[in-house]
Amino acid sequence: MADLTDLTLAEARDGVRSGTFSATELTQAHIDAVEGARGLNAFITETPERALAMAADSDARVAANDPRPMEGVPIAIKDLFCTDGVRTTAGSHILENFTPPYESSVTQNIWDAGGVLLGKTNLDEFAMGSSNENSFFGPVENPWRAADDGQSRVPGGSSGGSAAAVAANIAPGAIGTDTGGSIRQPAAFTGIVGMKPTYGRCSRWGTVAFASSLDQAGPMTRTVQDAAILLESMAGFDAKDSTSVDIAAPKFEAALTGEVKGLKIGIPDEYRLDGMPSEIEALWTQGAEWLRDAGAEIVPVSLPMTQYALPAYYIVAPAEASSNLARYDGIRYGLREDAEDLTDLYETTRASGFGGEVQRRILIGTYALSAGYYDAYYLKAQKVRTRIAEDFRQAFETVDVLLTPTAPSEAFVAGSKSDDPIAMYLNDVFTVPGSMAGLPGISVPAGNAANGLPLGLQILAKPFDEQTLFRAAHVLEMAAGVTARPTQWWKEAGA
Ligand code: GLN
Repeated sequence: MADLTDLTLAEARDGVRSGTFSATELTQAHIDAVEGARGLNAFITETPERALAMAADSDARVAANDPRPMEGVPIAIKDLFCTDGVRTTAGSHILENFTPPYESSVTQNIWDAGGVLLGKTNLDEFAMGSSNENSFFGPVENPWRAADDGQSRVPGGSSGGSAAAVAANIAPGAIGTDTGGSIRQPAAFTGIVGMKPTYGRCSRWGTVAFASSLDQAGPMTRTVQDAAILLESMAGFDAKDSTSVDIAAPKFEAALTGEVKGLKIGIPDEYRLDGMPSEIEALWTQGAEWLRDAGAEIVPVSLPMTQYALPAYYIVAPAEASSNLARYDGIRYGLREDAEDLTDLYETTRASGFGGEVQRRILIGTYALSAGYYDAYYLKAQKVRTRIAEDFRQAFETVDVLLTPTAPSEAFVAGSKSDDPIAMYLNDVFTVPGSMAGLPGISVPAGNAANGLPLGLQILAKPFDEQTLFRAAHVLEMAAGVTARPTQWWKEAGA
């Protein structure tokens, strides 16, 4: 039998359902892959016993001729989703020993569809970062290495563990969260598909909050079809999340018709940045040509507020984070340091529990929300946000989707931006505007840089038009026909 870890999510699903292999065999193959790839540090917590118990349940379902939509398929879960009885750390020391007594709605939906919990993946602490170097549990290694320097590369962030697990064939699918790009950017850096749904499409209940008005869960897979299948199991209205939107989730997989004839693809001029690597610019042009050759119409559009998206995001997101993270006080959750009195307890617990980037965000956010600066920063940023959304609304009056690069570079060398937060924040320049407007977005592997590292293109669509998003992404994926895979050097490196 071919290696079960090479199968796409769709092939794994079909194989379990038809009895070609059992869910237990499929799960065991992936558990072995998790163990064989510990050198990547993609997982914070492995859950082999639970995985095998869930797989046995799946095999019983198949035997009873009652399979659910994703029966027996192992899925890796970003360690930001609460999992009942399984430690959930958010990549932070402050939640290092937190075991939730409840299950997030999104993960519950996946288990109800027959998914199998493979383990909890590494991430930037509280999903703050673009390189997965901000995790209390250590950095994740990108499975890809450049042909020229062989140096360790970051997998992107914050969903870096999920991205690495899927890129390294440790899991056929994983889920992440995307606040300003944390699914799409790591997908581009690791050569996989990463999709952020419309804000409100997936429930946020039971997901550790970063910036509540931006956070969205989404699928990370090796194909567009797999992303559609996984999202179908995750999405849906949830009365427990007041921002969950009561619109039935369509059959996303059925949207992949393989054609884009007559579709209008917008190319936003403002995404052409000074100093952008020529390879990325060329790939973007190539992507538009592929879609035009497939029958789509390419239309230049203007999004004049684009340049303000990043600065506004880095006010809004830290402001919400500073409020959300106030709950980690040493009293109610997680870590508690010894202290003389209450103030001392808060201070010592939070000082030792939060890492440097999280503390920076709390300081920026608290400052932006303080009485004297609220109008100048937070309110202003909210106004900018409204204008950004208006830009997109107008563009979507003439086009169906937008095509842009996902990130301004390929995966960078580990440690190369750690001392420069602004350089790190600039990674989100193409993903943040869509987040500010709550739009669905997807990164599709579209090519490789001269040094062999993967590059992605992003498609953005109208709110709740994930079907058109998937349809265009699927055609782009087929046209690009990327087949390169990372060499499995981590297997020799050992655990
Ligand atoms: N890199 C961005 C940040 O650090 C986005 C993170 C995310 O989407 N969770 O805020």
